[in-house]
Amino acid sequence: MSVWFVTGASRGLGLEIARAALERGERVVATARDPRRVEEALPGHPDRLLVVSLDVTDQEQAEAAVAMAVERFGGIDVLVNNAGRGLVGAVEETSDAEARAVFDINVFGLLTVVRAVTPVMRAAGRGRMLNISSTGGVVAWAGWGVYSASKFAVEGITEALRLELAPLGIQVTSVQPGPLRTGFLGTSSLENVERVIDDYAATSGASRAWAGENHGRQEGDPARAAAAVLTLADLPRMPAHLPLGTSTLSDIRTKLAAVGAELETWQDLARSTDVVST
Ligand code: NDP
Repeated sequence: MSVWFVTGASRGLGLEIARAALERGERVVATARDPRRVEEALPGHPDRLLVVSLDVTDQEQAEAAVAMAVERFGGIDVLVNNAGRGLVGAVEETSDAEARAVFDINVFGLLTVVRAVTPVMRAAGRGRMLNISSTGGVVAWAGWGVYSASKFAVEGITEALRLELAPLGIQVTSVQPGPLRTGFLGTSSLENVERVIDDYAATSGASRAWAGENHGRQEGDPARAAAAVLTLADLPRMPAHLPLGTSTLSDIRTKLAAVGAELETWQDLARSTDVVST
């Protein structure tokens, strides 16, 4: 029986991961800004479920949540950094405050939780971290620049953490979901920038419209994504990344092919900048 620590477990993917872990007999620390939502959604597990208040932007709360988890279950085996939020708007349309708010949750919040949990895993000499990134952590689309930047940051942090923590017995991976049928595109989650510039109607404006039209119609099933996350966490060696969903596979393949083609095309110019030995 492992101990799972999940952020953003009030709804969506985080709730489904907490539910799936509980259903197969794990002990779960389900954290949320509003713990009552988790208690209502996951009744009937008094021995194996600990519900804790955690806004990931609050370092004190993160440390307290980890201390509670350790006191109750003796450690943390699997950390799922799931809490996150979307933002749609062209880069220029996005205000400083709007950009910082999304980074506060998706990037600095994740770092806060990582700093709180890592000492527990290092002391145990084992553990697994699964960072919920996005297709947007690999590919950026018009209107999603700042959100993508936050998930690109998650990818960078994850890649480095993987190298830093592997020698200490801790495995780290990023999970890259495509569109999941959660509240992510709804008004309770997705923020639209306040300032709309007409010149971006065909680019970021189209993304805004896409978000409105596709809320509730996304291809990905969050319960099935949660099942995949459990499968991933069970692997003896977790891969560096796990894309989720058919569109994610094709979007990442297209991106990798474009990057590969550019490398080939521009390799001579790239090499031309090396210091010439005399
Ligand atoms: P939801 O909007 O349904 O859920 C988001 C969760 O994050 C909620 O539990 C929310 O809590 C929580 N959250 C937001 N801000 C904070 C905070 N400051 N502290 C703690 N919890 C917070 O979206 P998803 O379940 O779909 O999103 C889960 C993850 O998956 C996110 O990281 C998202 O970026 C990523 N993702 C989602 C995709 C999708 O299409 N759905 C695609 C790719 C990636 P509260 O209820 O309090 O608001």
